[in-house]
Amino acid sequence: MAQVFNGGIHPRYFRELTRDKPLREAKLPGEVVIPLSQHIGAPAEPVVKPGDMVKVGTLIGRSSKFISASVHSSLSGRVTAVESRPHPVLGNALAVVIEGDGKDEHELFSSQDPENVSPEEVKKLILQAGIVGLGGAAFPAHVKLTLPEGKKVDTFILNGAECEPYLTGDYRIMVERTDDVVGGLKIIKRILKAEKAYVGIEEDKAEAVKSMSEALKNEKSIEVIPLKVKYPQGGEKQLIKTILNREVPGGSLPLDVGCMVSNVGTALSVYEAVSFGKPLYRRVVTVTGAIVKNPVNLLARIGTRIGDLIEECGGLSENAGKVITGGPMMGLAQYSLDVPVIKGTTGILCLGEKEISFHEELPCIRCARCVDVCPMGLLPTEMRKKVKAGHWEELKDYSLSDCLECGCCQYVCPAYIPLVHLFKLGKSELQRIRQS
Ligand code: SF4
Ligand code: SF4
Repeated sequence: MAQVFNGGIHPRYFRELTRDKPLREAKLPGEVVIPLSQHIGAPAEPVVKPGDMVKVGTLIGRSSKFISASVHSSLSGRVTAVESRPHPVLGNALAVVIEGDGKDEHELFSSQDPENVSPEEVKKLILQAGIVGLGGAAFPAHVKLTLPEGKKVDTFILNGAECEPYLTGDYRIMVERTDDVVGGLKIIKRILKAEKAYVGIEEDKAEAVKSMSEALKNEKSIEVIPLKVKYPQGGEKQLIKTILNREVPGGSLPLDVGCMVSNVGTALSVYEAVSFGKPLYRRVVTVTGAIVKNPVNLLARIGTRIGDLIEECGGLSENAGKVITGGPMMGLAQYSLDVPVIKGTTGILCLGEKEISFHEELPCIRCARCVDVCPMGLLPTEMRKKVKAGHWEELKDYSLSDCLECGCCQYVCPAYIPLVHLFKLGKSELQRIRQS
């Protein structure tokens, strides 16, 4: 029986904007700008130069470090530049610019039988395909799936929670690409040698619960678990607590309690790499918000300008007050519509001027609401004090590195204190001190 994790909030979800509309292939862009850094870890190194001709799937950036991922062309055409361009997370970063030739020619690698391919071969294909976690974190999948010596995973959890408001891409994938997601799930379970697997889906996604349960009805070791709707249900540690009642201690990984969690989009990419020889060159992006004329989930090529995807959804009915990549809780506000879709772009959320509010920050009233909702059991109000005072040594006692940056504390704070911003600042300062 599923448990409930501590803390969390119940924001308005706004999923009705896109939930019931089928996935749609986005128009082929005329140009793509593909950053070589779109994953956690070292950027890929460019292996093409201006003037080179490429196809969809041609390797354009090679990962040479262990924690890194390869990058592929998402368009057939000509490389016009390898230069610094706007990036949705990093501000600016080295990118390969490709002008399309409209032919959409593909260069795939050889596919394998998903039922019989060896675990080592799967890991090679995942590395070759440049697959990263598609839930937003973009951690290289081949690294995650390579277990350190002596570690064992008894349970694999497929994360279909999609708890961020507005986002419905994973939901559509589970409803429309059920067999392929199940195929990816089985491949991952097999390479991890996990005895058991669960699919965690919030119970308001009834169609997805139904289609996944139907597809898995004859699988004795794989179970679909409907979960209570609560944010951030899709956090790895929250899912593990909810489904298995296992606590992942602070500073530890799911692996330390015998688990691994992957997102449904990642499972789909694994299946496509193994069965069709497809590198990761496109992903599902929820283009949404009340001011988007025709919000929908688009299958978009990596490197497409986010402004082009908004246009493809009919544009905006009024001026945007804020455009966010990702969801409203953990997403990043963008200052330009020229930033491209990267592998971790789950959504493009456009909010009208009236939907965003600017509040002046007030003094903390020590109400402890932030403490009550923190799903990691942290003390946001104390961490806030230490960051503001620059007491970095003392901050180390508050497990700041366990902060998910989920935004629950900030959401409930009556003093409008930008807590997540402070915690990001604190984390980067601690990292700087560690490295100095
Ligand atoms: S919720 Fe805001 S006002 Fe209340 S204790 Fe936390 S930081 Fe202070
Ligand atoms: S952002 Fe960090 S401190 Fe705030 S509720 Fe989430 S995990 Fe807790």
